[in-house]
This record gives sequence, structure tokens and C-alpha cells, in this order.
Amino acid sequence: MRAVKSHGRERIADIQKTRGEDWLEILSEVSRIANSTIELEPRLNSIVEVITRQTGANACSTLLIDEESGDLILRATKGLNPMSVNRVRLKVGEGITGWAAKERKPIALKNASSDPRFVYFPETEEEKFKSVLAVPILDKNDCIGVIYTQSVSERDYTENDIKLLLTIANQISGIIKNAQLYDKAIQRLRELSILYEVSMAMQTTVNLDRLLRIILSSITVGNVFGFNRAALFLTNERTNTLQGMMGLGPDSGDEAREIWSKIAEITDLSRWLISQGDVLLKRESNFDGFIKSIRIPINPENGILALTVLEGKSFNIKDARNDPRTNKELLDKYGVNSFVVVPIIARDHVLGVMTVDNIYTNKPITEEDVQSLVRFTSYAGLAIENAKIVTKLREANKEILSTQKRLIQSERLSALGELAAELAHEIKNPLVTIGGFARRLYEKSELNLEEKNYSHIIIKEVERLEKLLKDILNYSRDIKPNFSEYDINLLIENLLSLYERTFRDSGIEVKKELSKEVSHINIDQPQINQVLINIFYNAVESMIDNGGVMSVKTESLTGEEGVVIRISDTGGGIPVEILDNIFNPFFTTKKNGTGLGLSLSRKIVESHGGTIEIDNRIGEGATFIVNLPRRQKNQ
Ligand code: ADP
Repeated sequence: MRAVKSHGRERIADIQKTRGEDWLEILSEVSRIANSTIELEPRLNSIVEVITRQTGANACSTLLIDEESGDLILRATKGLNPMSVNRVRLKVGEGITGWAAKERKPIALKNASSDPRFVYFPETEEEKFKSVLAVPILDKNDCIGVIYTQSVSERDYTENDIKLLLTIANQISGIIKNAQLYDKAIQRLRELSILYEVSMAMQTTVNLDRLLRIILSSITVGNVFGFNRAALFLTNERTNTLQGMMGLGPDSGDEAREIWSKIAEITDLSRWLISQGDVLLKRESNFDGFIKSIRIPINPENGILALTVLEGKSFNIKDARNDPRTNKELLDKYGVNSFVVVPIIARDHVLGVMTVDNIYTNKPITEEDVQSLVRFTSYAGLAIENAKIVTKLREANKEILSTQKRLIQSERLSALGELAAELAHEIKNPLVTIGGFARRLYEKSELNLEEKNYSHIIIKEVERLEKLLKDILNYSRDIKPNFSEYDINLLIENLLSLYERTFRDSGIEVKKELSKEVSHINIDQPQINQVLINIFYNAVESMIDNGGVMSVKTESLTGEEGVVIRISDTGGGIPVEILDNIFNPFFTTKKNGTGLGLSLSRKIVESHGGTIEIDNRIGEGATFIVNLPRRQKNQ
């Protein structure tokens, strides 16, 4: 007992002296460790160990200030429960170490637990310690952490003890600062490399939908952002609203785990984004449906999304439910209490906004994350702007081409119209004469069979020429409808009974479904007659070989007053390769066709303010849908 006691006394005496050579030894060991690796954690661990060993303390620990929260967090310890590392967290000013950080002064207590500033952290298992020496780690004038030693037996700390720990704190302050800068630089580098990869992927497309998918995939996948969900809204300048474009993210925690396990192995982000990445995430999600259904008028009363557009700055909403700026109805459906909204800006104007959240992991979104997101969206904004410009250019180009085509066509047609009118005058009279003589010849009884046959051919050919002439004249004539009120159902009934024989002879069954709801509308009756006859004839000709069914249906036009007429056949449909041409004048696939029926019909229907559409079912048949709106007389 005596020996031990005396040994203990000698040791205390040693420490109290803390001779110059001991200092040198400790400081050189600390400096060797300080320069050993780049990672901070192992260096701090070795340093607290050296201090414990060399100063006779029973424990030494380091707390560092977390930049985001400003709290002190236990980062390394020798002597306290190792499980408490990264778990013990205290405010600056709280407890003895918090006091040292706040006052930026050392504190030495022989009996710490009797001090009013003492706070006990059970997870550290520090109840056995009596004395504490804590010194702040200072970077210029800022406190960046605290280093402290503890002893089981009561201890009177000397000036020298305090000075030694202060010198060590001073020595490690630089390495801590550098390590933190290094971590930031690494993080920034990682962010830059992701930005590079994403911008590579973004350059591969000007298709807006695909681009938005790449943008949203980039921030929900990968270890830089890795947000649980992201959604994108674009402004509609015409209606001054924000329009939900796309939402990306799982609908449930289970789905989240399944998706994240699949994407965990992605190594080449840009290639993944360009290739199957979007396919993997392209499932129809409820979240996507919900986002697409959102329309928000852009004014300050409409919540945080509209506010982001108006103010052009980001918001990190931590408690959405109690935040007066959030739209509570939308929030309920969003299902999160904290999220971030950033504006998407291109060339000084706000194109839209992006929201991100961590609904499943509840990981807090830091200011640093928001800054990275802002940098990312400035790239994304430019890409979206470019895609929109390209889309506009394409549309304008298409419009120019089709106007040019229409112009050429109308010039050609008006020239053709004049020519046709002139020719008609020239040809009509001789044609009538030829037809008349041929008929008289045919009726002569003394003709032999061969002569009768020839004159019959002349009559038929003249009839065909007369029809062609009539079609050309009709087509080239300016179509100005002369409106009067008419019952469409009655018009159809009359036509069907007029051509009843033709249908019967061709083996065609006619089915009618004429709605009583259909009211009288203003039409040019002979012109609409002409349209229906053309469509009936085409239907008959499509079924000429095998017969079939022609259905005629009327119903009132939804949304506005008017009529829809549907004429369906079972003639096998229109071959896809000619579908684009059938409304072109003179396009025909028939031996005796003029190719003017449908183009004339369309001209007439359009002059009535209506449309003709086709529901083409290959192998079955075609349905021609004529929409005629209700119009005022001669409007
Ligand atoms: P024409 O009847 O003189 O050929 P149209 O302009 O009326 O001229 O029709 C153009 C072409 O459209 C037809 O030659 C035919 O190939 C196609 N077509 C029109 N209606 C139908 C239909 N109901 N079924 C299949 N093809 C059709």
C-alpha cells in the first residue's frame, strides 16, 4: 500500500512539475500524429490517447462545433464510453465544456459535479470522474471545439497543466480547420463531378420530358443529393400559373427500399442517366400523378411555391405545418413537414420551381444542400430554357413549312380552278353533244351487238368525264356556305332512302342510330349532302367485293351545341401508308376515282367551322367523324 501510495505521490509531483522535456515529448508526439494522415478522426483518436497517457489523466476527449447546427459534438475520446462518440451533443454554454467554448477560456475544476455548470451525460459513463480540465480550441478568435481531460481522483490543476493543454489545443486547431476545409473541398469536387456528368447527360436531349426526367433522376439518385423525392413545376406565362410537370420518387417506404437497392450500384452516372436510368424510374407513380395535377396561380397568397417564383429565391421549410407561407391543402397531399423549394432560373427570369424532400429517411436538409441544389438548378435552368427554345423553333419551322405548303397548294389550286373553269366551258358543250349523239345512236334498233357495245362505252365514258368536270368545277369554286336551319337527322334519312338501292345491290346493310337530342342546326344543306354522299360512296366502295355494314350515328357535340356524325364501314380500313394523303386533291387509289371527294368534303366542313376526323381500324374498317358546330345563320 505504501509503495503504491508513494508511487502515486511521485507521479503527481512529476505532473505538477511538467518539466520542459515532458512538454517537448508530448508536443512532438502530437505534431507527429497531426501530420500522419489526412483523415481527422484517427488523428484525434491518437491525440486524445497520447494526452491521457502522457498527462496521467484518466480520460481525454474532444468536442467539435458542428457548422450547421452550431452545437458541440463529441468526436473522439479515450476513457469515456466509445459509443457516445458522435452521440453526445450540447449547446455552446451548456455544461462545463460548453462554458469553455462560450467564454473561450480554460476551466479547471477539482470537484466538477459540485459546480452549478456541471451537466451529466449518462451515455458517457463519466460518473466516476471527479476533476475536469477543459480548454477551448480556437481558430483566430472563433471557438471550433473543446479538448478536456478528466481524473478519477481529485486533482489540483496547475498553471502548467492548463498551459500544456492550451498549447495542444492550439496545435490541433490548424489540423481541424484544414480537415474541415478538405472535407468541404471533397464534397465540392464530388458535386462538380456530378454536375459534369449530369450536364453531359442533359446535353444528349432537347426533348423536354426526357430532360426533366434526367434532372429529377440526378437529384434523387447518387450520393451527393440523394433526396427521397423531387418535383418540378414550370411557369405558364399565358395563364400566369405554375404547372406541375413531373414528380419523381417512390410512393412508399417499401418501394423506396426496392428502388434504392437497384440503383445502389450505379457507378457511371451520366451513362446511367442517358441509358436505362430513366426507364427504371419511369413507373407511373401516384406522386407523379399528384404533381401533374397541380396548377397554382402565381400570386403571393398561393403559398410558398408561388412565392419562390415571385421572389426568385430558395426556401428551406423546416416546419411546414406551422409556417404561415405554406398552402395547407397542398401540404396534406404532399405528406411532408419539411422540404426545400428552389427557383429554376435562366437568364434572369424564373422558369419554374423544384421541390425536394426526404419523406422516407427524414434526413434533415442542410443549408449546404440547399446551396448545392441552387448551383445545380442554374445548370438545369439553362438546359430547360434551351429545350424550350428548340421546341418553339421546331414548332415555328413546322408552321412555316405547312403555311408554305398551303400557299403553294392554294396557288396551284386557284390556277387549276381558272384552268378548269376555262376548260369546262370549252369541253362542256362538245361533251353534251357527244353524249347526246351517242345515246341516240345506242337507241337505234338496227345496230348490231358490237356497234351497240361501242356506243354504250362512249355513253359511260362521257358520263365519267362529265362527273370529273363537275367535281373539278365544284372544287375550284369558292365555297361560301349559304346557311339555313336544317334537321341533320332528316337529311341523313333522306339520303339513305335515296341510295337504298345502291346499298342493297352492293350487299351492304345500313344501321342507323340517330339521336333525338340532336337539334336543328344552320348548314348549307346541298353542301353537307355532298359531304355525306362522298363519305357514303367511299364506304360502299371499300365494301364492294364482300359487302358489309355501314353504320350512321348522330349525337350532339359535347361542350358546345352542334352535331357529330359518325359513318363507319367494315371495309378493312385505310392502309396506313396512304392515310396522310387521302385529303389531298386528286389523290385516289381507285381506277375511276377523281381523288376530289374527301378534299372537297373537308373544304365544305371547314367552311362550316367543323372538322372531319378518322378513326381507322386496320383490318376492320374506317369511321369518318364529322363535327359540325352550331352557327348563326350566315355567320
Ligand atoms: P376517290 O373516292 O375519288 O378516290 P376521295 O378523296 O373520296 O377520292 O378518297 C381518296 C382515297 O381515300 C380513296 O381513293 C381511298 O383510297 C381512300 N378512302 C376513302 N374512304 C375510304 C374508306 N372508307 N375505306 C378505305 N379507303 C378509303
